[in-house]
Amino acid sequence: MSHLAFIGLGNMGGGMCANLVSSGHPVRAYDLNPEAVDQAVAAGATPALDIASAVAGCDVVITMLPAGKHVHSVYFGDQGVLAHAPRTALLIDCSTISVGEARDAATRVQAAGFDCLDAPVSGGVAAAQAGTLTFMVGGSEAAFERARVTLGSMGKNIFHAGRSGNGQAAKCANNMLLGISMIATCEAFNLAEKLGLESQTFFDIASKASGQCWSMTAYCPAPGPVPSAPSNRQYEPGFAVAMMLKDLRLARDAAAASGAPIPFGLAAHARYQRLAEAGLSAKDFSVVMQQLEGSTSPIEEDSA
Ligand code: NAD
Repeated sequence: MSHLAFIGLGNMGGGMCANLVSSGHPVRAYDLNPEAVDQAVAAGATPALDIASAVAGCDVVITMLPAGKHVHSVYFGDQGVLAHAPRTALLIDCSTISVGEARDAATRVQAAGFDCLDAPVSGGVAAAQAGTLTFMVGGSEAAFERARVTLGSMGKNIFHAGRSGNGQAAKCANNMLLGISMIATCEAFNLAEKLGLESQTFFDIASKASGQCWSMTAYCPAPGPVPSAPSNRQYEPGFAVAMMLKDLRLARDAAAASGAPIPFGLAAHARYQRLAEAGLSAKDFSVVMQQLEGSTSPIEEDSA
């Protein structure tokens, strides 16, 4: 079993770290928040007081941090991973950061003699706890093969997406699609309801017709048809508006950098921005449904 360092034990990292421990990996756990470290210790990890003691002598360093600037400081800070991990360690960053940040970090990490992967996840907190995440991995084939067992302890589907940054590219495009499809699903259910259809009736038809999508069948934003969906618990997350907005910002920036037109992606970004400004950042991203139900303007998006 590999000796692991796990840095960033928040909503996602806490469950991921616990699953690595349950799979038999010795894990040293570090977070700026001591309570997060205590929880990892309760799950069987060894506490580390700082990054240096977390990564000393380890085989693999896993980071699960809020954004690119945190990954940058944890990797490249004076007391960071590159300063203290053995050159033989594989660095796996599971945070969601921009494609550009991931590629820049990989170039710098590899120049320092380390191997690395960007390995963002899809699945959310429940999947992190259950060990059923989907990993989208960018980096060399050899590094991917080295990471397989470790990632397999935290996830069910592990995809090699190609070169460094390609994991983030897959995550970015996927989550833009999710944001757009959730809004589209909300609009369709709201329209059907206003036209006199029960949500369950529309669900039964559309989930077997050409409008079918994950936002509908796994996460229906109208209360009722999918009992586990946040729509049945006052839109408590789930996947928060703030997280979707972060991912759509990354998509907006990636589109600007690559020249890919994303008019629907930009519209989705604008809508989630407005939900955040309305104080709904902590609600589930399917709360769009509730907002539409309270609106009578068919061109609300343009007039806002
Ligand atoms: P979180 O804020 O709950 O956890 C981040 C943790 O990192 C915190 O415990 C924080 O104290 C720690 N941290 C920050 N800076 C640090 C530093 N310099 N050194 C050590 N620890 C530090 O965030 P989360 O919900 O666990 O998300 C983590 C990443 O996963 C994000 O990039 C997010 O976009 C991505 N993600 C989240 C979800 C989700 O549903 N929450 C789903 C998919 C992907």
